[in-house]
Amino acid sequence: MKPRILVSACLLGEPCRYDGASKPCKAVISLSEQVELIPICPEVLGGLPTPRIPCEMQNEKVVRRDGMDLTKAYENGAKAALKLAKDNQVICAILKNKSPSCGKIRYDGSFTRTLTEKPGITTALFYENGIRVFSESEIEGSPEFKMLIEKR
Ligand code: SF4
Repeated sequence: MKPRILVSACLLGEPCRYDGASKPCKAVISLSEQVELIPICPEVLGGLPTPRIPCEMQNEKVVRRDGMDLTKAYENGAKAALKLAKDNQVICAILKNKSPSCGKIRYDGSFTRTLTEKPGITTALFYENGIRVFSESEIEGSPEFKMLIEKR
């Protein structure tokens, strides 16, 4: 059986982003020859529609651009993503950077496209539960990622 990796669905071409678009990543898609890729979109899993008004994290909360607090939906999506990761015994996750859910880094909550080194809500939950997270730009040429796949 191929090892399994949880992947942000938008990186596999699913049009689940806030603007109704996708963000296909060739380096990620091509992994399907070696591993089983399990697509997830925590924001959709949390019950949010597509397209949707963008959100950013402000400290522990996730706030929509118009000020609505959507923390609960984001937390629910993160928990559902974690359950899928555990149920499938994934070896790691590849999550889309800069998202308030999936980012290893994300925007800082000021809605000025200012980045902060802090993770999104799903990535933070994965860290807490010992699940290794790579962003889409960290896999190509990464000896650590190669070793992780090949030791299975
Ligand atoms: Fe992609 Fe994650 Fe945003 Fe869903 S929540 S659109 S998977 S970055």
